Amino acid sequence: MNPMPFKNRSNTGADLILAERLIQLGARPPIVSQLCQLTRKQSIAFFKTVQGQSPKQGMLPHDHQWAIRSALNNIHASLFLGMIEGIRDRLPTPNLSANLLVVAYEIYINVASRMLADRQCIQPHSSQHYPLDINRAWYLITLLSTGDLVFILCGRCHARYLGMIHPDTAFSQCPICEVWTDRSGRRRWVSAKSKNRALNKPSAR
Ligand SMILES: [Zn+2]
Repeated sequence: MNPMPFKNRSNTGADLILAERLIQLGARPPIVSQLCQLTRKQSIAFFKTVQGQSPKQGMLPHDHQWAIRSALNNIHASLFLGMIEGIRDRLPTPNLSANLLVVAYEIYINVASRMLADRQCIQPHSSQHYPLDINRAWYLITLLSTGDLVFILCGRCHARYLGMIHPDTAFSQCPICEVWTDRSGRRRWVSAKSKNRALNKPSAR
């Protein structure tokens, strides 16, 4: 590993350790720059050193409806943002920090790998195969901060899940009990049509 020529004297060892961990977890240079006080050029160089390849080009995840596109997405987003809220409530400064993202995402992949291993559809430690990638996780935090995503308590199963209050989208359905399973085993949101069917045939679940 080549030594990195950091020019910014304000970089602390802690910043660099967190930057390395973020990159190992799959974070892309713009996020590393923002959270670890590195210039974009430094983050790209550091990424190449840690990952042994150039970072992916293009825009960061920005689909504001990702968490409500499927029940599976909603479960993973709710799990991760629940960690963020739980940890942030205990911090003296509730700002988003590299440390908060690293700690919450590490807990998330720990829990998610067990969930997915039970279904035998993932190889542990292949972080890009988790439904929620760390770059999207970072974007979801901003949606929670702006109030576009809100936590809702299901009156039926008592799960805490994410609903959306956005200028072009309002959505609230529990990913645990307001779903149905199609023939391939995929859990799908109960639409108005299938909801009526479920009301007529309550044993369908
Ligand atoms: Zn529910």
